[in-house]
Amino acid sequence: MKYIGAHVSAAGGVENTPLNAHNIGATAFALFTKNQRQWQGKPLSEKSIDLFKERCEHYGYKPQQILPHDSYLINLGHPDPTGLEKSRLAFVDEMQRCMQLGLDRLNFHPGSHLRQIGVSDCLARIAQSINLALEQTQGVIAVIENTAGQGSNLGWQFEQIAEIIDQVEDKSRVGVCLDTCHTFAAGYELRSLEACQETFAEFEKVVGFNYLKGMHLNDSKGVFGSRKDRHHSLGQGEIGWEAFRYIMTDQRFDGVPMVLETIDETIWAEEIDTLRQMAVGTL
Ligand SMILES: [Zn+2]
Ligand SMILES: [Zn+2]
Repeated sequence: MKYIGAHVSAAGGVENTPLNAHNIGATAFALFTKNQRQWQGKPLSEKSIDLFKERCEHYGYKPQQILPHDSYLINLGHPDPTGLEKSRLAFVDEMQRCMQLGLDRLNFHPGSHLRQIGVSDCLARIAQSINLALEQTQGVIAVIENTAGQGSNLGWQFEQIAEIIDQVEDKSRVGVCLDTCHTFAAGYELRSLEACQETFAEFEKVVGFNYLKGMHLNDSKGVFGSRKDRHHSLGQGEIGWEAFRYIMTDQRFDGVPMVLETIDETIWAEEIDTLRQMAVGTL
């Protein structure tokens, strides 16, 4: 079963997200549980939490169909102790929000070395940040998103993700979210069936599909290997439809939330329907 949706708006409260997802025919969705550009979020109210759970139940969204995303400000590999501490505190708060909402995973960008520390040092800090967060929370999987490798962002090579996972103590609570735009921009070819076979075989070899806990389905404005994180609508960017058809028909992508972060939300319903038809074989 393929779960397909989009990163929907939480304007007016997290309780609106299941409704927004339902309105575009989504069977999966992503959300921010607080303002993603601020450090401090208002605590979730009882009313918000209850309504969120009630609506998820009503519209048929189980935790494995929902992929919350953390704040963009958090850098779990921060080179500076103050910045690192601030990020770690904020990350635990994000994990706790997921627990309150009954969610089982949290998607985050691994972190950046800001050109002040080495790659392995930064990856070790990220792993240690995950270990600390897992100790303070229960039931939520820390889902590392692969990046495009912009600036000093790590996690763009599958090996870097594997290096983080290696150092996480509780392997049952660490996972990976692959973003197709980031994958392609990082230099993993996706433009043909053979290319997809090769790229995902590489992922299986280096990381393993057992860790796959979500997908971000985005086409790319940036060219192959550009290391630029610039999303495009499906089929309108440099990747093209073939990769998305491949994902929709490969069983290794079953049972995880796959969400659009494409640039034109007015066509999300259409994009979701096209993907759904590819998955069931009517297109
Ligand atoms: Zn993404
Ligand atoms: Zn992106």
